[in-house]
Amino acid sequence: MSLVSSSFAQSSQAPAYANVLAKRPSDLRPFLSLHNQSYSNGSEWLLKDLKLNIEVQFSQQRLRASGEYSFQQLAPSNWLVLDVQDMQVLRAIDMETQRPLAFAIIENPYGSRGLKSGVHSHALVIQTDGIQDHLQLRLEWMTEPQSSALQWLEPSQTHDKQSPFLFSQSQAILARSWVPLQDCPSVRFTYQAEVTVPSNMEVVMSAVPVHKSMADSSHVRVLFEQKRPVPSYLLALSVGEFEYRALSEKCGIYAEPGLIKKAVWEFADLPAMIDSAEALYGPYAWGRYDVLVLPPSFPFGGMENPCVTFATPTIIAGDRSLTSLLAHELAHSWSGNLVTNHTWDDFWLNEGFTVYFESRIMEKVYGKQYADMLTVLGWSDLQGTLNELKDVPGDTHLHLELGTRDPDDGLTDIAYEKGRFFLMLIEQRVGREAFDRFLKQYFETNAFGTMSSERFIQLLNRDLLSQNPDWDMDQEIESWIYGEGVPQPWPLFSSTELSRVALMAQAYNRTRSLSEINTDGFTTHHWLCLLRNLELQDSAEMAALDRAYGFTQKENAEIACLWFVHAAHCHYRVAYPAMESFLLQVGRRKFLMPVYEAMVAGGIESKEEGFAMYLRARPGYHSVSRQSLDELFALETVEEDPLPFNMPNPHSVPVIEPPRESRLPDSQGGDGSGNGTTRDGGTLREVPVSPSGLDPDGGRP
Ligand SMILES: [Zn+2]
Repeated sequence: MSLVSSSFAQSSQAPAYANVLAKRPSDLRPFLSLHNQSYSNGSEWLLKDLKLNIEVQFSQQRLRASGEYSFQQLAPSNWLVLDVQDMQVLRAIDMETQRPLAFAIIENPYGSRGLKSGVHSHALVIQTDGIQDHLQLRLEWMTEPQSSALQWLEPSQTHDKQSPFLFSQSQAILARSWVPLQDCPSVRFTYQAEVTVPSNMEVVMSAVPVHKSMADSSHVRVLFEQKRPVPSYLLALSVGEFEYRALSEKCGIYAEPGLIKKAVWEFADLPAMIDSAEALYGPYAWGRYDVLVLPPSFPFGGMENPCVTFATPTIIAGDRSLTSLLAHELAHSWSGNLVTNHTWDDFWLNEGFTVYFESRIMEKVYGKQYADMLTVLGWSDLQGTLNELKDVPGDTHLHLELGTRDPDDGLTDIAYEKGRFFLMLIEQRVGREAFDRFLKQYFETNAFGTMSSERFIQLLNRDLLSQNPDWDMDQEIESWIYGEGVPQPWPLFSSTELSRVALMAQAYNRTRSLSEINTDGFTTHHWLCLLRNLELQDSAEMAALDRAYGFTQKENAEIACLWFVHAAHCHYRVAYPAMESFLLQVGRRKFLMPVYEAMVAGGIESKEEGFAMYLRARPGYHSVSRQSLDELFALETVEEDPLPFNMPNPHSVPVIEPPRESRLPDSQGGDGSGNGTTRDGGTLREVPVSPSGLDPDGGRP
């Protein structure tokens, strides 16, 4: 633990504060607690509104920024503590008195016993004694080029290679690296932002642009407004040379000029998805719904930033086959953005609900057969994750106990797929009509609030299960939410199409004859199922498959990833140049991890080769992907353990009940299609567990 001495306020008017802050850093420790991965004291000061002013400086790869914060005092406190990381805080001012406030940044207050090393989260402590009821605070700061939420891309790292590009990724706890905040999902605030960027560039935020003007001869200034309160992880910014095309009055696409045509074609079903989502669970609450296609280094599939989803270009497959990701991010406009997990321990309330909702949108837009294929592939993902987590069974609970671990540790298919299958189980118990009624009411009455597992169980029992004695699910609730693995009973589901493919793969695995495989009518999902179920043994076999189906040259990223995993396992070197080019081009962690893991698992020589590829590709990856891969290749630096750990009382933030006026109006809708639950669960046995190395992040966040 060390103080950043340059961060002391230069104030002669606050000698008492300066005296306290000038004491040894350990004297500040009693004021700090780490709770839900945040040092902030949200039970004393609560952020309500933020006005940002941001100057985007590409040449220095930094933001120069200021913020005017409105805090409400909930309990007397001499300190305001905010989360910060990778930034210099220049000034803190009480706006009512114009008095500078003393402050200090305390680095990694709990060292390696705090957030796991690599996160490097710090506490910004601002002296506030004497200030009552509310605080109007002005902060000024500059980010560092290594800010973990911000990725600054050179022109060569973009699709068009013309201009630099910037995008943020705040989830889960990275917002603190570009804005000092109470960086936990339980604090929601409204925001405005004035952003200055080079005049040849566009800027988007997770908000609505309301005004644009020239700042000087070469810069424009854009004003954004987010009138709906959002948690910190939904704060988002992107700047680049991109264009916009409307798809309807409600939605459109931003992408680099060279990609916009392809993106518009690929995402043509977006308006239909929005209509379906609204018909299911009520009106969309955020005004516009746009999608920004980012350069390939974006570490995730998509990020559900309100008003503008950020999406990976790897879903542009040329055949609209990977657009379930759009349905997923859109669904987050309800599950996650409207009703938010109170802490990251209940991440499944964001993601499990979203996968369930995504699947319902896909069924409405593309039909049941299509949605069933995605469900079966999701089950296979879940089996792969359970296998990976077999040594840490506590991480297979829906409700996690992360403590001080990085929330990224909970970003597995447990939250996504186990969560979804649990909701399917409830749907099948009570019937689709009753479940839809419950969910619609759940989104309406809890809009702009947070939710915990405990509270969800209360609502589920009170508003749904208590209506019929046959619907008692106490035991299932306990074992699914607080228990390990995927307990019986399972929901019923199957896909005739994928059962057919799985049988072909089994026949091939027995006979090693390509004549067992009939690819007539194959879609991307058939290919994925085939590749997951083939048990390939050597490079000669790989070569035969490659000759028959041209796998090495396939551009669909989902198919390519699975093929390269097989290639690494079988040392099929013919595919290595294409594999390396894939690893250099794509930064999406979902695709990187399985391929590198397969290289690591392939023996010393293979591991070294994988490491060499990683070193070449690493500069182009986002910090989120780099962190996971550094750990895989044991590149992590060991952090010193500075002081004895003494956790004071946790300043927990209470569950925020949404104010009456912000609740969504009741609306008509719902699907009323009956529950459709008479499906045969035989596929569970017919589709074997997929090969290792699948989808560690669910691919969607
Ligand atoms: Zn998601």
